[in-house]
Amino acid sequence: NKQIILKDYVTGFPKETDMKMVSSSIKIKVPEGSKAVLVKNLYLSCDPYMRNLMKKQESRGYFDAYRPGSVLSGFGVSKILDSDHPDFKKGDLVWGITGWEEFSLIARTERLKIITHIEVPLSYYTSILGMPGMTAYAGIFEVCSPKKGEYVYVSAASGAVGQLVGQYAKSVGCYVVGSVGSKEKVDLLKTKFGFDEAFNYKEEQDLVVTLERYFPQGIDIYFENVGGAMLDAVILNMREHGRVAVCGMISQYNKEKRDGVQNLPLIVGKRIHIKGFSVFDYWHMYPQFLETTIQRIKEGKIVYAEDIVEGLENAPSALVGLYYGRNVGKQVVLLAHE
Ligand code: NDP
Repeated sequence: NKQIILKDYVTGFPKETDMKMVSSSIKIKVPEGSKAVLVKNLYLSCDPYMRNLMKKQESRGYFDAYRPGSVLSGFGVSKILDSDHPDFKKGDLVWGITGWEEFSLIARTERLKIITHIEVPLSYYTSILGMPGMTAYAGIFEVCSPKKGEYVYVSAASGAVGQLVGQYAKSVGCYVVGSVGSKEKVDLLKTKFGFDEAFNYKEEQDLVVTLERYFPQGIDIYFENVGGAMLDAVILNMREHGRVAVCGMISQYNKEKRDGVQNLPLIVGKRIHIKGFSVFDYWHMYPQFLETTIQRIKEGKIVYAEDIVEGLENAPSALVGLYYGRNVGKQVVLLAHE
C-alpha cells in the first residue's frame, strides 16, 4: 500500500520534501466488530486547509491534525472493498475523508457519503459536488444573499470555490468581477465561467485603484478567499451596507506573522457586515445542494474546471502548487479508475 506521509511539522510555505511516499502492507479484510470499511482510493482532493493541519496542534472538529510519520488525510472518492458497517457494502462508491494512500481502512465512517449519482465524473465529488461546491453554494446564497443588480467581487476566482461563486452570483443577475493570478485564468473567467470582468492581481500596482476601476459604483458583496492587502483594498471600495463573506485567506496561511488589515475601522461608517463561515455550518443542506447542482450541470447552466494530475507520487507537488497558484481550476489527484 503506497502512502504519503508527513515527514515533519511545516513552517512557512510547504514543500514537496515535507512529504514522502512510503510503502506498507494492509490487511485485505476489515476486522470483525470494528464497524470500519476498507476502501480503494480513486481520487484525492488537494485543499488549502491542509496546510493548517501540518502545524503542531491537537485534532479538533472534523479534521485530524497530521503528525510526523503519519499518513495525510483529506477528501477523496473511494470504492468500498470490504465493510463491517451496516450502511456500506462492497462495491459502493463513497466520498469523504480518506487517507493519502492506495487503500485505506476507515473507522470514522460518519465522514463518508455514498455516491448515488454516477452519471457525472466521479472526480466531481471532490469538487463541484463535494466540499468546495458546497462551500460556494452556502457562502454565496446563505451568507451573502445576493440580489439582482448587485456588484460582486470574488478573489481566487478560478479556483475550486471561486469559479462557482461567480457563476452562482451571475445566475441571480449580479455583476461579477473576479481576480486571479495569471492571464490564462483571466481568460477562463471571462470565456468559460461568464464573469463580467476579471483581472490579474499580480499585474496591478495599486489594488485600491484597480478596484475603483472595476467597481466605479463600489462593491456590494465581496467573497473573500485570499485576505491581506486585498481585503484592505476591498474595504475602501465597499459600498455602505456591503457584505463580506470570509471563506478563507490563503495569502496568510504560510506566514508566521500575518499581515495587518489597516482599513478595518471603515466597517463602522460603511456599516459593512463581515461574516466568517465554515462549510460545515451548512453541511445539513447537502442533499438540497446535490439535487440542485446535478440539475444545473445537466442543463448546462453551470460549468466546472478541474486540474487533474495522475499518480499518488504527484500528490505532494499538486498540494504545494495551491499556494503558488499552479492549479488551474480544482486540484484533484487521480489514483485509480473504478
Ligand atoms: P483554489 O482552488 O482557489 O486554490 C488556491 C488558489 O489560491 C491558487 O490557485 C491561487 O490562485 C490562489 N492563491 C494562492 N496564494 C495566494 C496569495 N498569496 N494571494 C492570492 N491568491 C493566492 O482553492 P479553493 O477554492 O479550494 O479555496 C479557496 C479559499 O476558500 C481558500 O482560502 C480556502 O481556505 C477557503 N475555503 C474555505 C472553506 C470554508 O468552509 N470556509 C471551505 C473550502 C475552502 P491565483 O492563481 O488566482 O493566485
